[in-house]
Amino acid sequence: MEILNEHINNLLTHLPSSVTLVAVTKTRPVAVLQQAYEAGLRDFGENRVQEMLRKQEQLPADIRWHQIGHLQTNKVKYIAPFVHLIHSIDSLKLLEETDRQAHKHKRVIDCLLQVYIATEESKFGFEPDELHSLLASGAVKTLTGVRLRGLMGMASFSDDQALVRREFSGLKQLFDQVKLQFPEVLPDFNILSMGMSGDYQIAIEEGSTLVRIGTALFGER
Ligand SMILES: *Cc1c(COP(=O)(O)O)cnc(C)c1O
Repeated sequence: MEILNEHINNLLTHLPSSVTLVAVTKTRPVAVLQQAYEAGLRDFGENRVQEMLRKQEQLPADIRWHQIGHLQTNKVKYIAPFVHLIHSIDSLKLLEETDRQAHKHKRVIDCLLQVYIATEESKFGFEPDELHSLLASGAVKTLTGVRLRGLMGMASFSDDQALVRREFSGLKQLFDQVKLQFPEVLPDFNILSMGMSGDYQIAIEEGSTLVRIGTALFGER
């Protein structure tokens, strides 16, 4: 508990007050989340739906749950009643299903569009030109159950800081550009989710408004 408090305080002193800290709690036991909650954290990120559900049932209701990992269309229904922000929208199909489930629960669900910025093959997300086509298509405007709040991206897992910086800076440029180009589609576009334990300082320098941090808070998995 004391070590966790120390890590949280350390981290918070390095974050500008305009940057939201999402504690990435995937694989951590409920007791650790409870400690993080008692230390004052309210934004928790999970990448597996079943795990989020199990934890959500056991923990206080004022926690804001962030879906940060790849989301399968057939699993949206489980998190639709309570999820605070979905960071990992990577297809129109997934956005449409989220819209459908949001209407079922009489909610509007905040979403980020995930953009593929890394050099690695395995990461999910729209390519920048796909993002443009999606926003230009008009398909998004009819979806009143979802609110597009911004973009999310993961930089390459690399020691090459210049590379990581270029990737973040590219995402920030894309964010600014689509916000300007599609104002009627993106009236609430103000979240740029980028930066993890190893690269959040660079991400913040490049314009991040939300960092997703696991290891630097809770130790190695
Ligand atoms: C695991 C994960 C993180 C946190 O990674 P750390 O290096 O532990 O800070 C952030 N974002 C996503 C999408 C993740 O899956």
